Amino acid sequence: MAYSQEILHRAKVRLAQAKQAHEEEDAARISRIYREIPRLREIDLALRRTMAQVMAVTFQRGQDPAQAIVKIKEENLALQQERDWLLQANDLEEADLATTPICPICGGSGYIGARMCDCLKELCRQEQKNELTSLLGTRKESFDNFRLDYYSAEFDSRLGSSPRKLMELVFLDCQHYAKTFSLTSPSLFFIGATGLGKTFLSGCIARAVADRGFSVVYDTAVHVFSQFEAEKFGNFSQETHQSVQKYTLCDLLILDDLGTEMTTQLTISALYTLVNSRLSGGLPTIISTNLPVKEVESRYSAPIASRILGCYEVYKFYGQDIRMRPQD
Ligand SMILES: [Zn+2]
Repeated sequence: MAYSQEILHRAKVRLAQAKQAHEEEDAARISRIYREIPRLREIDLALRRTMAQVMAVTFQRGQDPAQAIVKIKEENLALQQERDWLLQANDLEEADLATTPICPICGGSGYIGARMCDCLKELCRQEQKNELTSLLGTRKESFDNFRLDYYSAEFDSRLGSSPRKLMELVFLDCQHYAKTFSLTSPSLFFIGATGLGKTFLSGCIARAVADRGFSVVYDTAVHVFSQFEAEKFGNFSQETHQSVQKYTLCDLLILDDLGTEMTTQLTISALYTLVNSRLSGGLPTIISTNLPVKEVESRYSAPIASRILGCYEVYKFYGQDIRMRPQD
């Protein structure tokens, strides 16, 4: 998963904090037991010294090491027995005095060799979801909340069907797309007038795909292009640079409301770069627009229009503006 540097950094910080908290918990539990049963601490210290004693005896001159080692072993055994007895008498288990790594697979480093451990992956997934929530705001886009009854069920002869029937197909396809999303999924192009649910369904896909562990960036065209612009003119911060990288490298980019920005030569070239680099990198993108197809071409040039219309799956949204009846 191509998580951004920021997401990875936040996930690593959380893992390090969790590891520290876990170690502190272990240490606090063990020292509490030692405080209550001081003899246990003495025994454990003595047992730990055993190895050093064995080494020392082995290298001591003028003495028979075997005899000394036997003596140490005997003492050791006596200590072990006393320790077992103390544990039993105080209703304690061996595990109560043991330290355990926060993750038994990677020990809390987050990696097994060069591969990311599932524990760090899970934190990345959570951080990605948090970031999406901050971009999507407090709206609760989910397929369960999508209201098909907002679309007219009346037969429309121009459509050869009803908006509700057609939107049901769009809805089912979007749901299937989110459920089966992978890096080989197609890119989608949502077309339709304002207020027909394009943003809502994009949000549903964003949340569901991020929930499955993919890096998803959702942003409006106005903001995406302003970041490209800032980078182009050099008045950018580290944050801008990271945003532009995220748009290019995330597993799924959702570019909402194309056409609402001030279209300039720069936005056209930014869109061209974005569409092309993601297509050639095999990374799916969802673009939504209120513009009619014809205007996509006249506004963004024929090469861009043909790239999008030729390589993306096009979905038309039907019906009347449903924003007067906001989704629950
Ligand atoms: Zn791990």
